[in-house]
Amino acid sequence: MSKSRRRTSRPREKAPSGSPAHHAGDGAAAPARRAGGHRVQLSRRGVPVSPGVAIGRACCLHEIFPGSDVELPDDDAVLRELARYDQARDQAARDLKALHQKVSSQLGQRAAAIFQVHESILHDPALTAKIRAWIVESRHTAPAALRKLLDEYTALFERTSDEYLRERLADVRDVVARLNQHLTDVASPPSQMSGPVILVANELIPSHVITLDKREVVGIVTQVGGRTSHAAILARGHGIPAVSGVPGILHEVVDGDLLVVDGREGHVVIHPDVETARAYRRLRREFVDLKDHLAHNRDQPALSADGEPVELLANISNLSDVKAATSMGACGVGLYRTEYLFLTHHDVPDEEEQVEAYRAVIAASPGRRVTFRTLDVGGDKKMRYLGLEHEANPFMGWRSIRLSFEHPAFFLTQIRAVLRAAAPEHGPKKRVGLMFPMITTLDELRRVRSLVRRAYRQLERDGLPFGQVPIGLMVEVPAAAVTVRQLAREADFVSIGSNDLVQYLTAADRDNPKVSHLCQPLNPAVVEVLYQTVRACLDMGKPVTLCGEMAAAPRPFLLLFGMGLRSYSMSPAFVPIMKELAKKLSQSDTSSIVERARKMPTTKQIVGYLGRRLAEICPDLSIVDSAG
Ligand code: PEP
Ligand code: MG
Repeated sequence: MSKSRRRTSRPREKAPSGSPAHHAGDGAAAPARRAGGHRVQLSRRGVPVSPGVAIGRACCLHEIFPGSDVELPDDDAVLRELARYDQARDQAARDLKALHQKVSSQLGQRAAAIFQVHESILHDPALTAKIRAWIVESRHTAPAALRKLLDEYTALFERTSDEYLRERLADVRDVVARLNQHLTDVASPPSQMSGPVILVANELIPSHVITLDKREVVGIVTQVGGRTSHAAILARGHGIPAVSGVPGILHEVVDGDLLVVDGREGHVVIHPDVETARAYRRLRREFVDLKDHLAHNRDQPALSADGEPVELLANISNLSDVKAATSMGACGVGLYRTEYLFLTHHDVPDEEEQVEAYRAVIAASPGRRVTFRTLDVGGDKKMRYLGLEHEANPFMGWRSIRLSFEHPAFFLTQIRAVLRAAAPEHGPKKRVGLMFPMITTLDELRRVRSLVRRAYRQLERDGLPFGQVPIGLMVEVPAAAVTVRQLAREADFVSIGSNDLVQYLTAADRDNPKVSHLCQPLNPAVVEVLYQTVRACLDMGKPVTLCGEMAAAPRPFLLLFGMGLRSYSMSPAFVPIMKELAKKLSQSDTSSIVERARKMPTTKQIVGYLGRRLAEICPDLSIVDSAG
């Protein structure tokens, strides 16, 4: 073990020397200042969502409209811009026609009607006239004209309390975003920056995954989002340090500014001074050393200190995550979030496209186990073609399995695709599982089982090969946790979705940094519900996994291990870390930790106690352990 790694066992909550706390007002909301042409170091505080330290130049993702402050130089440029706008409009119109056709054949006319509305907005003569006038008379670029249009409509519509009109604003936004996407595809001004960057965005949405893939992104900062928001999950999946919930950062930072992202403590430092940058570089090196050291254990089996096997599986969203899972030594896939296939696909993938994508994931997966989760949209994952409407409480509303039930043909197609991909003739024998999110009642579980039976019958009738798959239930709604014994009797396995379970138990939105102090996985109520759920499954002999972000956090892992849980699914980057931790844990030591923690009445006490125990059991992991 290297010397530098041993140094990480410094006092847990202490910031590195030269940390922002020593140099600038922590969390002060002042704008970036310059003294005598000098950039002054500023520190901002957010929610730590993906551990590690990044130092790099900012790359700001302003949501849309790049180059909107550029004025067209002459008449030729104006003509070119008009042609560029027309070309983008034609492409957008083709998209909308194709979407309408595909969605209406799969989901019916009603669901597809939205694309006709968008087409009529796209061709609206008044709207087109405004854009062309701004390009010709004001010499605006097409994106700038779109920006102006949106500002005008926003000012107009936002004054109204009419929900219908507000929805129309959302449609205009959608059309404008589509147009802008084609405009930037046609002539995207290539960023002058090269080398590693830190993405600064309002929030990370699935389409940013493309940006992540295209650039060398070493850190992420977002204005909104909490610890288990999908932005955070994405960052952790890529092993990229990230901080969320930093309001106003997009106004304080410009492209090229030097930033530090401390994903363990939740600090963002803008224009770090020499001493601070040096301290963070040292911390970054220690982190990398730890990762390198742990990478060696990826080919070893995961065993506890008692020699008991521990199943460390990967959460994946796409094929490239499967490669990461393999290289990190995961023993299978515990959660395949299939919705990303739909969210990043330009339209609805049909059955054949889904079968192909699922087969590829199965064939590439490490180990034998691959667990599919059916579509889980709604909440923070929007998908317009399923007819998602504005809801006052989207996380409590029409999301996930509730939405799938409303689209039986669509839902059945997905189930058929998984069963077909699981056919034994495709690649080496794998244990494919199919699980259903957000189950709240036994009736829902029975309904999905009956849909699965229908899918089998259809495939038999159609003469298509398929595999028999165990059916799992996700426990992520408190009602399901409380009645887990009744539910688990009718399921083949259970997977605890702690991200949602925590937000619903604490009534605190997992995406809202303002309530992140409440949305805590180590809240005493959460600890008790997890204990009862895990114990119920173990008593019944029902296979149980936990696939929320808690599985990859050292303190909760310690507790869950003590409860008897031996199967965890997490972002691939964390597998080597948890393997290291599992090696140090025995049932007898950790049972007593659980008993102590269950008697503690506050989150703070549990967090502090587990932190101290962890520092004794596995001091090397202090650098990835976060109290937050
Ligand atoms: C969860 O809720 O814990 C979970 C794994 O599902 P998701 O994060 O995709 O909602
Ligand atoms: Mg969930």
